[in-house]
Amino acid sequence: MPATPIKPGVTEPAYDLTTPLDVDYAGAFADATDADRAHQQRVRAFVQDEVLPVIDEYWERAEVPLDLVKRLGELDLLRDGVDVEGREHVSLMGAGLAAMEMSRGDGSVATICGVQGGLALRSIQMLGSDEQRARYAEPMARGEIIGAFALTEPTHGSDSVSLETTARRETRDGVEGYVLNGEKKWIGNGSSGHITVVWARLVDGEGGEGDNQVHGFVVPQDSPGYTGTTITGKVSLRAIWQAHVVLDDVFVPAENALPGARSFKDTSRVLFATRLGVAWAAVGHAVACYETAVAYATQRVQFGRPLAANQMIQERLTRMLSTLTQMQLLVAQMTRLDEAGELTGPQASLAKYTCTRGAREIASSARDLLGGNGILLRNRAARHFADVEALHTYEGTESVQALIVGRDITGVSAFA
Ligand SMILES: Cc1cc2nc3c(=O)[nH]c(=O)nc-3n(C[C@H](O)[C@H](O)[C@H](O)COP(=O)(O)OP(=O)(O)OC[C@H]3O[C@@H](n4cnc5c(N)ncnc54)[C@H](O)[C@@H]3O)c2cc1C
Repeated sequence: MPATPIKPGVTEPAYDLTTPLDVDYAGAFADATDADRAHQQRVRAFVQDEVLPVIDEYWERAEVPLDLVKRLGELDLLRDGVDVEGREHVSLMGAGLAAMEMSRGDGSVATICGVQGGLALRSIQMLGSDEQRARYAEPMARGEIIGAFALTEPTHGSDSVSLETTARRETRDGVEGYVLNGEKKWIGNGSSGHITVVWARLVDGEGGEGDNQVHGFVVPQDSPGYTGTTITGKVSLRAIWQAHVVLDDVFVPAENALPGARSFKDTSRVLFATRLGVAWAAVGHAVACYETAVAYATQRVQFGRPLAANQMIQERLTRMLSTLTQMQLLVAQMTRLDEAGELTGPQASLAKYTCTRGAREIASSARDLLGGNGILLRNRAARHFADVEALHTYEGTESVQALIVGRDITGVSAFA
């Protein structure tokens, strides 16, 4: 970044704020395997060489970095750890470290992977038929088919279990299928992708099996009646588009219904699998902010000495590291439980609750520690400060995670 001369002889230095610090103060990730580390390093190289040099411009213009999406496919980083036949298996720890590293780079790019791999591809791999897996998995891993996941509705966010989008059985031109009607909001890739996994309530009126239950359907975005309008004016995750999707008598053949999606419990299985991933992503944002704060504190001179020479600054960095270390230990341990098949829903919720809260605190402190430079995109902290707000909300807000944990603690549901 070129330094700005203020007057001859008075030049603000160009701060180097992106060098990775490999912060892991308590050895939370000490038992990561060589394969996990190699996967993490692949993401880090991509972030350092390809994301950080360009992402501020995409963020500012609110444009999706399509070239980076293409590269993610080429580097096999779009799957978000979801298994695809014929491709390398990534452990849950490896996937977590990768999610952390991607978010350390940029929240929009990480969310593109989260939606494509974590939500859309996972829905098909987990709940789809062999034919659907054969048709979609490989092109989605390559990034040739970009997917979306449409659960939230304008009037049903936290209570998405009450969604009102309908699916009605119908035969059109001799083809058995479903007609979908409803609206979806906040759908990542919903206007810029190729297919959307739509969650809708079956209303065939015959009282048959599955009637009035939530089912999943793969809907091509160029289907007649499908309209995805990009939501503009966002101050967070500006380099990925979310859409307001309208489904107006959209017909899909029966073969597009996910056979494993027969009730909202199945939708929840997908969301449960991704919740810990959001916690890992929050750790990545926190790492980025902590690294930036440490680098700035050692390079910025005020009162004739670096900021880092002040006791209050050191205490502040210690507080950031303390929170970050707790977050790292938590995601690492929860991931070990997940690897052992023992992770519970409330535990995953506790991880998301703790980590997006922690990331928010660290981002806010880092932003402030950079002073006026902290509101400039080019100094890194501001983008993370804004992006972490979306993580705090999506895939279940902080309050909703608290209600899930609270129900587990007390045995009393406070949702109603
Ligand atoms: C950037 C972004 C990307 C997203 N991507 C997707 C996507 O790809 N696909 C998708 O389907 N959805 C997506 N979402 C939607 C997201 O999951 C919802 O925004 C989220 O679940 C919250 O719903 P809401 O925004 O309607 O808030 P609301 O549910 O209206 O909540 C508003 C506030 O009330 C609180 N609240 C709600 N109920 C209670 C209660 N019972 N007790 C106490 N407090 C309560 C909430 O915690 C929140 O603070 C995305 C959202 C964002 C912002």
